[in-house]
Amino acid sequence: MTIMKRFRALFLAAFLVMSGTVGVHAQQTKTLTQFSTIDALLIGAYDSKMSLEQLRRYGDTGLGTFDALDGEMILADGTVYRVSADGTVQTPGPTETTPFAAVTFFDTEQEKTLPTGIGLRELTAQLDSMLPTLNLMYMVRIEGSFKTVKTRSVPRQTKPYRPLVEIVKNQPTFDFENIEGVMIGLRCPAFMKGINVPGYHFHFLTRDRKGGGHLLDVTIDRAVVKIDRTSIFHMILPEDQDFYRLDMEKGTGNAISEVESGRK
Ligand code: ZN
Repeated sequence: MTIMKRFRALFLAAFLVMSGTVGVHAQQTKTLTQFSTIDALLIGAYDSKMSLEQLRRYGDTGLGTFDALDGEMILADGTVYRVSADGTVQTPGPTETTPFAAVTFFDTEQEKTLPTGIGLRELTAQLDSMLPTLNLMYMVRIEGSFKTVKTRSVPRQTKPYRPLVEIVKNQPTFDFENIEGVMIGLRCPAFMKGINVPGYHFHFLTRDRKGGGHLLDVTIDRAVVKIDRTSIFHMILPEDQDFYRLDMEKGTGNAISEVESGRK
């Protein structure tokens, strides 16, 4: 090989490595990766397992729950936080597991300062008006100060497991006033019913990382929303007997809205 040829080969190799990396990164930020399904969770499949270490390979931002439904998961800036049923926050280790989570590598495609004083209904309407279509998935990050935040968490379950809709009837709720923090939200299209939660689903974490949970209500004070559009859906299903044996044929009716909003 002449020096020139060797140089050209080297250059080509470097180019391939670089373009490959760029391609993988772009794909990661456009991909929403999910483990298991919301219907499986709704009927009580709290034991399927993906380790947090594995989950982190698919994203730095997202939400979910933990093994045996032990609290609300919020993944923010690459760290997994658990808001327990007593309202405290922990950072579980990489070997702990989740039966349901959805994550992506967050890149900001849209950004906007939200109007002061709006509640959850106005907030979701504002966000919808910013989106190019309701037929894709969006990871949403809202950071700033909030006049009020109401959250809930769920206690660790023991077998025989009850459906989620039974558990949330006695859910512990938490009220915050004039609090700084971050909301991580996922918006899924209506056609994803059964797979994830259609519409918005938010989890909240205080700035001091000492409180949070599954968001039930909010009043915005001063906050900025960042939106990450994802068009690739990567679904990983549990390969275990618990999941294999679930009867998913009858569906879950209106359980989802009761569980997510706390309303019937
Ligand atoms: Zn939730």
